[in-house]
Amino acid sequence: MIAALLAAVVRRTAGPPLVIAGASATVLAWAPLAPRGDAGVVELHVLDVGQGDALALRTPRGRWLLVDAGPGPPIAPDAGRRTIIPYVRRRGGEVATLVLTHPDLDHVGGAPTLLAALEPDALVEPGFLATSGAYEGLLDSALAHGVAWRPSRRGLSLDLDGVRVRVLAPDSAWLAAQRDPNEASTILRIEYGAMAMLLVGDAEREQEAWLLANATADELRADVLKVGHHGSRTSSTAAFLDAVRPRVALVSVGRGNRYGHPAPSVLAALAARGAAVFRTDVAGTLVLRTNGRSLELVTATGTWSPESSSRSAPAGAVSSPP
Ligand SMILES: [Zn+2]
Repeated sequence: MIAALLAAVVRRTAGPPLVIAGASATVLAWAPLAPRGDAGVVELHVLDVGQGDALALRTPRGRWLLVDAGPGPPIAPDAGRRTIIPYVRRRGGEVATLVLTHPDLDHVGGAPTLLAALEPDALVEPGFLATSGAYEGLLDSALAHGVAWRPSRRGLSLDLDGVRVRVLAPDSAWLAAQRDPNEASTILRIEYGAMAMLLVGDAEREQEAWLLANATADELRADVLKVGHHGSRTSSTAAFLDAVRPRVALVSVGRGNRYGHPAPSVLAALAARGAAVFRTDVAGTLVLRTNGRSLELVTATGTWSPESSSRSAPAGAVSSPP
Protein backbone atom coordinates (compact mmCIF):
# COMPACT_ATOMS: atom_id res chain seq x y z
CA MET A 1 0.00 0.00 0.00
CA ILE A 2 2.70 2.46 1.03
CA ALA A 3 4.84 1.43 -1.93
CA ALA A 4 1.94 2.10 -4.26
CA LEU A 5 1.33 5.48 -2.65
CA LEU A 6 4.98 6.41 -2.93
CA ALA A 7 4.97 5.38 -6.55
CA ALA A 8 1.93 7.58 -7.11
CA VAL A 9 3.69 10.51 -5.47
CA VAL A 10 6.88 10.06 -7.45
CA ARG A 11 4.87 9.80 -10.65
CA ARG A 12 3.29 13.16 -9.88
CA THR A 13 6.39 14.98 -11.06
CA ALA A 14 4.96 18.25 -12.16
CA GLY A 15 1.46 18.82 -10.91
CA PRO A 16 0.38 21.43 -8.42
CA PRO A 17 1.64 21.11 -4.83
CA LEU A 18 0.70 17.66 -3.71
CA VAL A 19 -1.73 17.21 -0.89
CA ILE A 20 -2.84 13.76 0.14
CA ALA A 21 -5.42 13.71 2.89
CA GLY A 22 -4.18 11.60 5.77
CA ALA A 23 -0.78 10.98 4.22
CA SER A 24 2.16 10.83 6.59
CA ALA A 25 4.96 13.40 6.60
CA THR A 26 7.29 10.71 5.34
CA VAL A 27 5.24 10.30 2.22
CA LEU A 28 4.93 14.04 1.60
CA ALA A 29 8.67 14.42 1.95
CA TRP A 30 9.05 12.55 -1.29
CA ALA A 31 7.31 15.20 -3.34
CA PRO A 32 10.19 17.74 -3.54
CA LEU A 33 12.48 15.01 -4.85
CA ALA A 34 10.41 14.77 -7.99
CA PRO A 35 12.30 15.93 -11.07
CA ARG A 36 11.61 19.46 -12.22
CA GLY A 37 12.29 21.40 -15.37
CA ASP A 38 14.27 24.58 -15.46
CA ALA A 39 11.99 27.16 -13.85
CA GLY A 40 10.46 29.44 -16.42
CA VAL A 41 12.24 27.80 -19.35
CA VAL A 42 10.74 25.73 -22.13
CA GLU A 43 13.01 23.43 -24.10
CA LEU A 44 12.51 21.83 -27.48
CA HIS A 45 14.85 18.86 -27.87
CA VAL A 46 15.37 17.63 -31.43
CA LEU A 47 16.86 14.22 -30.83
CA ASP A 48 19.44 12.77 -33.16
CA VAL A 49 17.68 9.58 -34.28
CA GLY A 50 19.20 9.40 -37.74
CA GLN A 51 16.78 9.73 -40.65
CA GLY A 52 13.48 10.51 -38.95
CA ASP A 53 11.91 12.83 -36.39
CA ALA A 54 11.81 12.62 -32.59
CA LEU A 55 11.14 15.88 -30.77
CA ALA A 56 10.64 16.36 -27.06
CA LEU A 57 9.15 19.53 -25.61
CA ARG A 58 9.92 20.04 -21.93
CA THR A 59 7.66 22.31 -19.91
CA PRO A 60 8.88 24.64 -17.14
CA ARG A 61 7.61 22.05 -14.65
CA GLY A 62 9.58 19.22 -16.21
CA ARG A 63 6.80 17.43 -18.04
CA TRP A 64 7.15 16.27 -21.63
CA LEU A 65 5.18 16.51 -24.82
CA LEU A 66 6.81 14.16 -27.32
CA VAL A 67 6.35 14.75 -31.04
CA ASP A 68 7.14 11.68 -33.17
CA ALA A 69 9.09 8.65 -32.10
CA GLY A 70 11.82 8.21 -34.69
CA PRO A 71 12.42 5.24 -36.96
CA GLY A 72 12.14 1.58 -36.07
CA PRO A 73 12.26 -1.90 -37.56
CA PRO A 74 12.45 -2.92 -40.32
CA ILE A 75 14.03 0.28 -41.64
CA ALA A 76 16.24 1.03 -38.62
CA PRO A 77 16.90 0.03 -35.01
CA ASP A 78 14.10 1.01 -32.59
CA ALA A 79 14.68 4.71 -31.83
CA GLY A 80 12.31 4.50 -28.88
CA ARG A 81 14.35 1.86 -27.10
CA ARG A 82 17.74 3.07 -28.24
CA THR A 83 17.44 6.85 -27.92
CA ILE A 84 14.17 8.43 -26.76
CA ILE A 85 13.32 6.34 -23.68
CA PRO A 86 16.79 6.62 -22.08
CA TYR A 87 16.95 10.33 -23.00
CA VAL A 88 13.69 11.12 -21.21
CA ARG A 89 14.39 8.85 -18.24
CA ARG A 90 17.79 10.42 -17.62
CA ARG A 91 16.12 13.79 -17.24
CA GLY A 92 13.02 12.57 -15.40
CA GLY A 93 9.50 13.91 -15.55
CA GLU A 94 6.30 12.36 -16.80
CA VAL A 95 5.25 12.23 -20.42
CA ALA A 96 1.93 14.01 -20.70
CA THR A 97 1.26 13.50 -24.39
CA LEU A 98 2.72 11.78 -27.43
CA VAL A 99 1.88 13.45 -30.73
CA LEU A 100 2.56 11.53 -33.92
CA THR A 101 2.54 13.79 -36.96
CA HIS A 102 1.79 11.00 -39.46
CA PRO A 103 2.16 7.21 -39.71
CA ASP A 104 5.38 6.90 -41.75
CA LEU A 105 7.94 4.56 -40.22
CA ASP A 106 10.62 7.21 -39.70
CA HIS A 107 8.16 8.97 -37.33
CA VAL A 108 6.30 6.12 -35.62
CA GLY A 109 8.85 3.29 -35.67
CA GLY A 110 9.83 3.79 -32.04
CA ALA A 111 6.30 4.49 -30.83
CA PRO A 112 5.18 1.02 -29.67
CA THR A 113 8.08 0.64 -27.23
CA LEU A 114 7.87 4.29 -26.23
CA LEU A 115 4.18 3.98 -25.35
CA ALA A 116 4.84 0.86 -23.29
CA ALA A 117 7.83 2.29 -21.42
CA LEU A 118 6.83 5.91 -20.82
CA GLU A 119 3.03 5.54 -20.70
CA PRO A 120 1.93 9.00 -21.79
CA ASP A 121 -1.51 10.14 -20.65
CA ALA A 122 -2.63 10.73 -24.21
CA LEU A 123 -1.79 9.90 -27.82
CA VAL A 124 -2.65 12.53 -30.42
CA GLU A 125 -2.32 11.58 -34.10
CA PRO A 126 -4.23 12.18 -37.33
CA GLY A 127 -5.76 8.72 -37.75
CA PHE A 128 -4.64 8.55 -41.36
CA LEU A 129 -5.59 5.15 -42.74
CA ALA A 130 -2.32 3.28 -42.83
CA THR A 131 -1.58 -0.40 -42.61
CA SER A 132 2.08 -0.56 -41.65
CA GLY A 133 2.92 -3.04 -38.93
CA ALA A 134 4.45 -0.30 -36.81
CA TYR A 135 1.31 1.85 -36.99
CA GLU A 136 -0.94 -1.05 -36.05
CA GLY A 137 1.52 -1.99 -33.33
CA LEU A 138 1.44 1.45 -31.77
CA LEU A 139 -2.36 1.49 -31.70
CA ASP A 140 -2.30 -1.93 -30.02
CA SER A 141 0.29 -0.65 -27.56
CA ALA A 142 -1.78 2.45 -26.76
CA LEU A 143 -4.83 0.30 -26.16
CA ALA A 144 -2.95 -2.16 -23.98
CA HIS A 145 -1.54 0.62 -21.79
CA GLY A 146 -4.74 2.60 -21.44
CA VAL A 147 -3.45 5.62 -23.32
CA ALA A 148 -6.28 7.93 -24.34
CA TRP A 149 -6.41 8.52 -28.10
CA ARG A 150 -7.38 11.87 -29.59
CA PRO A 151 -7.43 12.76 -33.28
CA SER A 152 -5.22 15.70 -34.20
CA ARG A 153 -7.52 18.19 -35.84
CA ARG A 154 -7.39 21.90 -36.48
CA GLY A 155 -8.72 23.69 -33.41
CA LEU A 156 -7.43 21.21 -30.83
CA SER A 157 -5.49 23.08 -28.16
CA LEU A 158 -3.61 21.88 -25.08
CA ASP A 159 -2.29 23.95 -22.21
CA LEU A 160 0.65 22.25 -20.58
CA ASP A 161 2.19 24.08 -17.61
CA GLY A 162 1.75 27.45 -19.30
CA VAL A 163 2.82 26.23 -22.74
CA ARG A 164 0.08 26.49 -25.34
CA VAL A 165 0.07 23.78 -27.99
CA ARG A 166 -2.31 24.28 -30.92
CA VAL A 167 -3.07 21.97 -33.82
CA LEU A 168 -3.26 24.04 -37.03
CA ALA A 169 -3.82 21.08 -39.36
CA PRO A 170 -5.13 18.79 -40.67
CA ASP A 171 -8.87 19.32 -40.70
CA SER A 172 -11.18 16.40 -41.43
CA ALA A 173 -11.99 17.32 -45.04
CA TRP A 174 -8.34 17.76 -45.97
CA LEU A 175 -7.38 14.51 -44.26
CA ALA A 176 -10.06 12.51 -46.07
CA ALA A 177 -8.78 13.72 -49.45
CA GLN A 178 -5.13 12.75 -48.93
CA ARG A 179 -3.31 9.73 -50.31
CA ASP A 180 0.18 10.76 -49.18
CA PRO A 181 0.53 10.59 -45.38
CA ASN A 182 3.11 13.40 -45.49
CA GLU A 183 0.39 15.82 -46.59
CA ALA A 184 -1.78 14.75 -43.65
CA SER A 185 0.89 15.79 -41.15
CA THR A 186 -0.15 17.16 -37.80
CA ILE A 187 0.99 20.78 -37.75
CA LEU A 188 1.69 22.13 -34.26
CA ARG A 189 2.07 25.71 -33.15
CA ILE A 190 3.70 26.03 -29.72
CA GLU A 191 3.48 29.33 -27.88
CA TYR A 192 5.29 30.36 -24.73
CA GLY A 193 5.40 34.01 -23.74
CA ALA A 194 6.29 35.99 -26.84
CA MET A 195 7.93 33.01 -28.55
CA ALA A 196 6.33 30.70 -31.09
CA MET A 197 7.49 27.48 -32.71
CA LEU A 198 6.02 25.74 -35.72
CA LEU A 199 6.46 21.97 -36.07
CA VAL A 200 5.32 20.79 -39.49
CA GLY A 201 6.16 17.08 -39.62
CA ASP A 202 6.69 16.01 -43.22
CA ALA A 203 4.26 18.52 -44.74
CA GLU A 204 5.02 19.17 -48.37
CA ARG A 205 4.10 21.95 -50.72
CA GLU A 206 0.40 21.01 -51.04
CA GLN A 207 -0.16 21.11 -47.29
CA GLU A 208 1.88 24.29 -47.03
CA ALA A 209 -0.48 25.81 -49.61
CA TRP A 210 -3.45 24.62 -47.53
CA LEU A 211 -1.97 26.32 -44.49
CA LEU A 212 -1.40 29.54 -46.41
CA ALA A 213 -5.04 29.48 -47.51
CA ASN A 214 -6.61 28.40 -44.20
CA ALA A 215 -4.44 29.58 -41.33
CA THR A 216 -4.04 33.19 -40.32
CA ALA A 217 -0.79 35.10 -40.80
CA ASP A 218 -0.38 35.23 -37.02
CA GLU A 219 -0.74 31.46 -36.75
CA LEU A 220 2.04 30.85 -39.26
CA ARG A 221 4.54 33.49 -38.17
CA ALA A 222 7.02 31.79 -35.82
CA ASP A 223 10.44 32.34 -34.29
CA VAL A 224 11.39 28.68 -34.70
CA LEU A 225 10.56 26.29 -37.54
CA LYS A 226 11.06 22.54 -37.48
CA VAL A 227 11.72 22.35 -41.21
CA GLY A 228 9.30 20.15 -43.14
CA HIS A 229 10.21 16.67 -44.38
CA HIS A 230 13.85 16.68 -43.28
CA GLY A 231 14.65 19.62 -45.56
CA SER A 232 13.36 17.93 -48.71
CA ARG A 233 13.05 20.16 -51.77
CA THR A 234 9.40 19.05 -51.98
CA SER A 235 8.71 21.24 -48.93
CA SER A 236 9.59 24.76 -47.73
CA THR A 237 8.21 26.76 -50.62
CA ALA A 238 9.17 30.43 -50.86
CA ALA A 239 5.63 31.53 -50.00
CA PHE A 240 5.53 29.34 -46.91
CA LEU A 241 8.93 30.48 -45.64
CA ASP A 242 7.90 34.09 -46.27
CA ALA A 243 4.85 33.52 -44.06
CA VAL A 244 6.74 31.84 -41.23
CA ARG A 245 9.90 34.01 -41.34
CA PRO A 246 11.75 31.88 -38.74
CA ARG A 247 14.80 33.16 -36.93
CA VAL A 248 15.90 29.61 -36.19
CA ALA A 249 15.35 26.61 -38.47
CA LEU A 250 15.83 23.07 -37.16
CA VAL A 251 16.41 20.18 -39.57
CA SER A 252 16.06 16.60 -38.29
CA VAL A 253 17.93 14.45 -40.77
CA GLY A 254 20.21 11.40 -40.94
CA ARG A 255 23.88 11.55 -41.80
CA GLY A 256 24.54 10.47 -45.38
CA ASN A 257 20.88 9.65 -45.98
CA ARG A 258 19.98 8.28 -49.40
CA TYR A 259 17.35 10.94 -50.11
CA GLY A 260 19.75 13.85 -50.38
CA HIS A 261 18.06 15.61 -47.43
CA PRO A 262 18.36 18.46 -46.72
CA ALA A 263 18.23 20.02 -50.17
CA PRO A 264 20.82 22.76 -50.73
CA SER A 265 18.06 24.91 -52.25
CA VAL A 266 16.04 24.72 -49.00
CA LEU A 267 19.07 25.63 -46.88
CA ALA A 268 19.76 28.56 -49.19
CA ALA A 269 16.13 29.72 -49.05
CA LEU A 270 16.20 29.68 -45.23
CA ALA A 271 19.54 31.50 -45.10
CA ALA A 272 18.30 34.09 -47.58
CA ARG A 273 15.49 34.91 -45.14
CA GLY A 274 17.90 35.37 -42.26
CA ALA A 275 17.25 32.08 -40.47
CA ALA A 276 20.04 30.35 -38.58
CA VAL A 277 19.88 26.70 -39.63
CA PHE A 278 20.82 23.81 -37.35
CA ARG A 279 20.96 20.17 -38.46
CA THR A 280 21.00 16.99 -36.42
CA ASP A 281 23.20 15.24 -39.01
CA VAL A 282 25.90 17.85 -38.42
CA ALA A 283 25.45 18.90 -34.78
CA GLY A 284 23.69 15.90 -33.21
CA THR A 285 20.83 16.53 -30.79
CA LEU A 286 19.65 20.15 -30.76
CA VAL A 287 18.13 21.85 -27.70
CA LEU A 288 16.23 25.08 -28.23
CA ARG A 289 15.68 26.94 -24.94
CA THR A 290 13.40 29.88 -24.35
CA ASN A 291 12.16 31.84 -21.35
CA GLY A 292 9.35 33.29 -23.45
CA ARG A 293 11.30 36.45 -24.25
CA SER A 294 14.57 35.26 -25.80
CA LEU A 295 15.93 32.01 -27.13
CA GLU A 296 19.16 30.09 -27.45
CA LEU A 297 20.24 26.92 -29.20
CA VAL A 298 22.44 24.44 -27.39
CA THR A 299 24.37 21.57 -28.99
CA ALA A 300 27.15 19.34 -27.69
CA THR A 301 29.70 21.84 -28.95
CA GLY A 302 28.31 25.21 -27.96
CA THR A 303 25.52 27.69 -27.46
CA TRP A 304 24.17 30.11 -30.03
CA SER A 305 21.81 33.02 -29.47
CA PRO A 306 20.49 35.62 -31.89
CA GLU A 307 20.71 38.17 -29.07
CA SER A 308 24.44 37.63 -28.50
CA SER A 309 26.49 37.59 -31.68
CA SER A 310 29.71 37.43 -29.68
CA ARG A 311 29.11 33.80 -28.81
CA SER A 312 30.61 31.31 -31.20
CA ALA A 313 28.17 29.38 -33.32
CA PRO A 314 28.18 25.65 -32.69
CA ALA A 315 28.74 23.18 -35.49
CA GLY A 316 25.56 22.98 -37.50
CA ALA A 317 24.94 26.69 -37.86
CA VAL A 318 25.21 27.05 -41.60
CA SER A 319 24.10 30.64 -41.51
CA SER A 320 23.43 33.41 -39.04
CA PRO A 321 21.00 36.28 -39.12
CA PRO A 322 22.53 39.39 -40.68
ZN1 LIG B 1 9.89 11.72 -42.38
